[in-house]
Amino acid sequence: MRATVLYGAGDVRVEHVPDARLIEPTDALVAVSRACICGSDLWPYKLMKPGEPPRRMGHEAIGVVEAVSSGVRTLKAGDVVVMPFAYSDGTCAFCHEGLHTSCVHGGFFGTVELPGAQAEALRIPLADGTLFALPVGADDALMASLLTLSDVMGTGHHAARAAKVGRGKTVAVIGDGAVGLCAVIAARRLGAERIMILGHHPDRIGLAKGFGATDVVSERGERAVERVRALAGGLGVHSVLECVGTEEAMRTAIGIARAGGAIGRVGVPHYEAIPASEPAFYNNLTIGGGPAPARAYIQELLPDVLEGKIEPGRVFDRVIGLDEVPDGYRAMNEREAIKVMVKP
Ligand SMILES: [Zn+2]
Repeated sequence: MRATVLYGAGDVRVEHVPDARLIEPTDALVAVSRACICGSDLWPYKLMKPGEPPRRMGHEAIGVVEAVSSGVRTLKAGDVVVMPFAYSDGTCAFCHEGLHTSCVHGGFFGTVELPGAQAEALRIPLADGTLFALPVGADDALMASLLTLSDVMGTGHHAARAAKVGRGKTVAVIGDGAVGLCAVIAARRLGAERIMILGHHPDRIGLAKGFGATDVVSERGERAVERVRALAGGLGVHSVLECVGTEEAMRTAIGIARAGGAIGRVGVPHYEAIPASEPAFYNNLTIGGGPAPARAYIQELLPDVLEGKIEPGRVFDRVIGLDEVPDGYRAMNEREAIKVMVKP
């Protein structure tokens, strides 16, 4: 079968690899019908160091179950499933608490340890706990939006939850990538009154407005902080959804949060220590977030997707075949595409 392998910074290839197969008694084998390239894939694509082992990429997919091992109880061949970016047993203490990304038996797809979803097929460990069977056919028109439940829509929702978004709140979203755009959807869905998006790319801003953003802040750095504070009546915003992961983004987040406010960070952090700890302390800020338990959120978000109340699939602005994946990485890295869907 064909699969995507990252060999080094800027060096991603689609290659023939041994077919995915069932190994453990709790495995399922899934034929990928749609996968995608994630903003977080761009970090190793940019920064992978010489000597690091090659990595089979991809952690978001919808597919059809081809076969299950003897110990799988809730899934069968032919089921259409969405795969969260982490696998989990669904039975441990953390899974019961809805924090599947901390599952004591879990882990992540698209790592050195476990091959990823930018491929024709993949092995799913702990299939009963990991996969979510969808009540739709494989060619349903809602596929793009359902695919976002693998990661970006759940991640945007997690940012909103961690930032304590609620009815009447003033919210700022840092980042205009797919996660930032889904964070706008999530903030609107949870009742935010005012949603500011920090970004400057016209297509992305247009989409953010369509999703419910009420204000656009295109300044950067200190000027962005001043502008947000001015828009928020000088006090700052209740909730900041940090969807980038850089030190500058976190500094901005702390700068624009209102005293007593909360920051939900879902951009994978690429800095050692959280900056601006003094203002964060004196303003009584809550800083939360982390990898979203996407598996837990599917149940909550799915009805809104099925009813068309939210349309996170609109973040996909390019659809490619598996062989074009290297160009998909390039396009996302150069911000030519917001999010790329892959149809193997
Ligand atoms: Zn667990």
